[in-house]
Amino acid sequence: MKIAILSLFPDILKGYFVDSIMSRAVGKGLIDYELVNIRDYAYDKHHVCDDSPYGGGAGMVIKAEPLAKSLDSIGVKGKRVIYPTPSGRVFSQSIARELAAEEELIFICGRYEGIDQRVIDLYVDDEISIGDYVISSGEIATLVLVDAVYRLIEGVIAGDSLEEESFTQSLLEYPHYTRPEVFRGLAVPKVLLGGHHAEIEAWRLRKRVEKTLRTRSDLLRENKVGKDVLRIRDELLDN
Ligand code: SAM
Repeated sequence: MKIAILSLFPDILKGYFVDSIMSRAVGKGLIDYELVNIRDYAYDKHHVCDDSPYGGGAGMVIKAEPLAKSLDSIGVKGKRVIYPTPSGRVFSQSIARELAAEEELIFICGRYEGIDQRVIDLYVDDEISIGDYVISSGEIATLVLVDAVYRLIEGVIAGDSLEEESFTQSLLEYPHYTRPEVFRGLAVPKVLLGGHHAEIEAWRLRKRVEKTLRTRSDLLRENKVGKDVLRIRDELLDN
């Protein structure tokens, strides 16, 4: 997958691509990325990229011209252009899967009050919110989206790590433990020490249902989960 990110502050993004799992994905050729500085496409003497809003009001708006020129410079044809914004559709694991199926993604990082609406009208395919709150940096919102998406690309992470993660099969994840066996008086559940694969699987599924019921019961809709999950849910509710 190719990811291009347009930003006024690309230095914020650089470290992310040279670290950890992402750098391995880049090294293996699974991800190719390009960071575009919008300011490089502001051709006035001071490279001004923002201006006050028509109609008055607080804050500044990222100008259409440098943004449009930077989009034209990388070419948008056949690519999905995403503008992370609090007024977009709310991001989820299923949207992450949808984006992971694309060949090329372009992200526009907003700042201040946001970007000129005409860029949205002319170029943007998808406006996505990372949640019902406002942050100052489109770079951080973009990294949230990129991070959720790229790890779903085949070869980036071992497939079985993803299979039982939160939000797969409409369930949250089971609890994890590692050494030592007892920590401050709290022991690792016995079933995890016995090496009995089927018992461990059954325990983990029960824990997933338990956690989901406790914190996100909205996920456990009858048409989304299997009969085994509904049976465990009903047992837990009966107790
Ligand atoms: N004036 C905007 C509003 O009220 O919706 C908020 C602008 S915010 C201060 C600056 C930039 O941060 C936005 O253009 C967007 O790119 C990013 N941003 C802030 N909150 C976000 C969210 N919840 N989801 C996605 N992007 C967000």
